[in-house]
Amino acid sequence: MSQQVVYINKERFYCDGGDELGHPRVYYTMVNGEAVCGYCNIKYVLEKDDE
Ligand SMILES: [Zn+2]
Repeated sequence: MSQQVVYINKERFYCDGGDELGHPRVYYTMVNGEAVCGYCNIKYVLEKDDE
């Protein structure tokens, strides 16, 4: 089972699990550019825009 990884461009975000893994909306703040949702285990990674 591979972990789903989602790249986003802000450190504060929320996860609601999307359509398949829906769960209550939870807000997270990344630590060191990463955060893993405790509900659905999706890993969020900060996508830096250098420009
Ligand atoms: Zn989630």
